[in-house]
Amino acid sequence: MQKTNIVILGAGYGGLITNKKIEKLLQAGEANITLINKHDYHYITTQLHKVGVGTACDRKIALSIPELIDSNKTKFVVGSVSNVDAQQQTVLLESGDEIPYDYLVISLGFEVATFGIPGIKEYAFELRSFRSSKAIHHQIIKQLSLYKEDGDPSRLTFAVAGGGFTGIEMLGELAEGLPKLCNEYGVPFDKVKIVGIEAADSLIPFFGEELISYTSKVMEKHRIEIFTSTKILSCTEDAIQLEGDMVLPCRTLIWSCGVKANSVLEKFGIPLVRGKVPVEKDLRVKGLENVFCIGDCALFMKDDQNALPPTAQVAMQQAEVCGENIVALMRHTNVKAFEYHHKGSVASIGDRTAVGKVGSFTMSGWFAAIMKRVIENRYLFVLGGPSLVLKQTLFLNREPI
Ligand code: FAD
Repeated sequence: MQKTNIVILGAGYGGLITNKKIEKLLQAGEANITLINKHDYHYITTQLHKVGVGTACDRKIALSIPELIDSNKTKFVVGSVSNVDAQQQTVLLESGDEIPYDYLVISLGFEVATFGIPGIKEYAFELRSFRSSKAIHHQIIKQLSLYKEDGDPSRLTFAVAGGGFTGIEMLGELAEGLPKLCNEYGVPFDKVKIVGIEAADSLIPFFGEELISYTSKVMEKHRIEIFTSTKILSCTEDAIQLEGDMVLPCRTLIWSCGVKANSVLEKFGIPLVRGKVPVEKDLRVKGLENVFCIGDCALFMKDDQNALPPTAQVAMQQAEVCGENIVALMRHTNVKAFEYHHKGSVASIGDRTAVGKVGSFTMSGWFAAIMKRVIENRYLFVLGGPSLVLKQTLFLNREPI
């Protein structure tokens, strides 16, 4: 009898956890599991701001995928998915290879949304992947080096667009990491300007008054200039045009204003809603019995109006159910409906401070920073057990790249 082919697209939060779940539920040889990803590493997206500033070593953020899977059960393929043919049940790779599937999981993640603002695509830097975050780090170093040659102040202005979760994490990291980099490159830190730009009338509005005020005070303490109720109209290589006829001379704009689903989905011939793949309660793509979609690519409606947000927390919880449901279908048992349980969120502002909310409980300062580390370590534990947590926390120190 032919073995069932399970193919997982993307080894991010959703894809890797789905793979883990299926590996746990199936014996070796019960099915062919193929995991496909663009690169041979999985990056900890929630720590990309550290890659941008260079405050964490590469090996802490980019984990080798072959070390995270059971090679007796899963075949890992490095490749870029270019299309899916749901009629023929095949996945097409950019290399021209075709991979057949009986069950497919689409977990290809997000892209940065630029909302068509002129110049953003060309000149702004994205916190999207390990590579794009490394590009931010290289840009910072380049500007510090060139400043020494021409003294152009726009080189020392570092702006972050978006005062949400990721934006404040990036601002906090810049404030903590830049003094050290300036010292290394012989640039006076007091000439550096860190600027946060937010269209809404406050930073992290979803966290409530108390945490907003705490965050603003931390920003002030770090001399971070915050512009709220300010839209970016366009940007060029050396300036940002803001609402109200303001121009900010700046060569490093880090764009952190929202994400959209991976645009490769548009080629799959699956009808998209809001750019995402609409899924049923059991996480199967509407109209396709053997195709699942999870994480940032999936549109999962929690009620008539609202979809679940694109977070790692959602992707990981969906992955558990997706894995179980694929095995249930293989064994002709019942599939489960997915239910999301929000466990709270914590945003770091540098290494020693964070703000967060768990249920109605709000936290800030060092306690929240510890909680952030607990959350990161829990993820490592799920991925690779206690040995991965030990390796990442004890043996790989927080050191510049
Ligand atoms: P991803 O994790 O993005 O995985 C997609 C995978 O598919 C990647 O490995 C990618 O390389 C691969 N891929 C993409 N295209 C192709 C292709 N064509 N072929 C092959 N492979 C491909 N969420 C939280 O819950 N908490 C946080 O603190 C948090 N912080 C964040 C900080 C930042 C800077 C960012 C950008 C996001 C943050 N998020 C956070 C959101 C979270 O990272 C995403 O929701 C999560 O990564 C979604 O998981 P996913 O599996 O859908 O996609």
